[in-house]
Amino acid sequence: MRDVKVRFAPSPTGALHMGGVRTALFNYLFAKANNGQFILRIEDTDQTRFVPGAEDYIKEALEWTGMHTDEDPWKGGEFGPYRQSERKPMYRQYADQLIESGHAYYAFDTSEELEEMRERLKRAKVPNPQYNAAIRMTMKNSLTMSSDEVKTRLEAGEPYTIRVKMPRNEEVRFQDIIRGWVQVNTSSLDDKVLFKSDGMPTYHLANIVDDYTMKISHVIRGEEWLPSAPLHVLLYRFLGWEEERPEFAHLPLILRPDGNGKLSKRDGDRLGFPVFPLEWKDQTTGEVSSGYREKGFFPEAFVNMLAFLGWNPGTEQELFSMEGLIDTFKLERVGKSGSKFDADKTRWYNQQYLRSKPNTELAELLIPHLDAASIVYEKDKLSSYVDLMKERAVFVEDMLEGRYLFEKPSSYDEKTISKKWKEGSGAIISEITTRFEESSFEPQALNDVFSSFLQEKELGMGAVLPLLRVLLSGKGAGPSLFDIMAFLGKEESVSRLRGGIQSLTNG
Ligand code: GLU
Repeated sequence: MRDVKVRFAPSPTGALHMGGVRTALFNYLFAKANNGQFILRIEDTDQTRFVPGAEDYIKEALEWTGMHTDEDPWKGGEFGPYRQSERKPMYRQYADQLIESGHAYYAFDTSEELEEMRERLKRAKVPNPQYNAAIRMTMKNSLTMSSDEVKTRLEAGEPYTIRVKMPRNEEVRFQDIIRGWVQVNTSSLDDKVLFKSDGMPTYHLANIVDDYTMKISHVIRGEEWLPSAPLHVLLYRFLGWEEERPEFAHLPLILRPDGNGKLSKRDGDRLGFPVFPLEWKDQTTGEVSSGYREKGFFPEAFVNMLAFLGWNPGTEQELFSMEGLIDTFKLERVGKSGSKFDADKTRWYNQQYLRSKPNTELAELLIPHLDAASIVYEKDKLSSYVDLMKERAVFVEDMLEGRYLFEKPSSYDEKTISKKWKEGSGAIISEITTRFEESSFEPQALNDVFSSFLQEKELGMGAVLPLLRVLLSGKGAGPSLFDIMAFLGKEESVSRLRGGIQSLTNG
């Protein structure tokens, strides 16, 4: 195999959708799995769609997810510049080369004339009216005009485009790593615009020229670009670059959770989950779209989830670090069919990563949340705090649920009280509190006290345990009761229990 060099080539037209991040990820994994290079190229030929802030967003999203670029607009590289707008002078010569070799031509049609053509074809019941081999000879272009007229128009500075001259009826065949052989007849393709008189190439020409001059070995991109691939294959041929043409791999779509169509930018917040890696604020409308980072997802969980949208390792293993993915990833194991996004699975991944993190790290991550919630905590107890709370948390912030470990409950779970607090409950709790008071405050010792008390009094667990829990924590559920007591210590536990009995019997 030739030296692997891939590019992620987003257009800075807004926040990077998670489908775009997955494209970047599969490029990155493929590059790193093959000791190759991963480069970032900004495709900004369409200046009308340029959105301020979008480029920085792309950079930040790659950094957050841990994809390191080998070459990009900021660090540069041997094949720069890495923004198409800065490469503007490089494209014209190739458009000229295509005209000279008869594979492209100048077109002078105005937008009204193009509209008229489409109307005319519609009236003639042509299903998909386009500028193509069948109609080009009825239009205003260098194929229908004398060379003198073309020259005069060009010299007069008339606006023009350069269009590819699509062969009339030819099979274009190429092999896609994911899809196998793809075959398209050129009669279904149109004479795409390659270059405009403002000196800017369109996506198609710029993309081909850049991939060739940057020595890209594999083009890995979304399925939406598959229809453009035959044109790209032809352009490589017309420019005499067939030998150097990159291989193609078109990734499957990411579908909405119900499998009904492509997951779009609009779906996310409407369906209750982010579609963007990072929060995005639209600078013109002020509209804010949520992001995985701000929602509290770990980048490792987000990456792991994304990798499984379209790929699987062929084993039961589901948890993969970036390193693990690099070791396992194969493009051949990417499927053809669309992959449904699953919000619950995404949360599951986060939970798995949260559980696997060391308590000390989780404690550090929790501090800002404790501060924001104005919880006064004991720093040296944070590690045991997260140890108690992590099993029940999906996000770091969920561990605030255990704030009762640092502060007395301000109220008691209504449901538990109304179901469990009976006449005589006060006496039972008071008696067991006395027993606890005489015990050491290790979870096992407390458990033993509790069990023998139940036995002696012939009481069921359900008559005592929920009440102890609610008096100590205010909640109807939580981590093991005896762990909570051990955490609180004897003095605090006893005081909460006695205080609780008092307030419930008086109230
Ligand atoms: N600029 C295109 C995009 O925004 C890239 C397509 C390609 O990778 O060729 O998706």
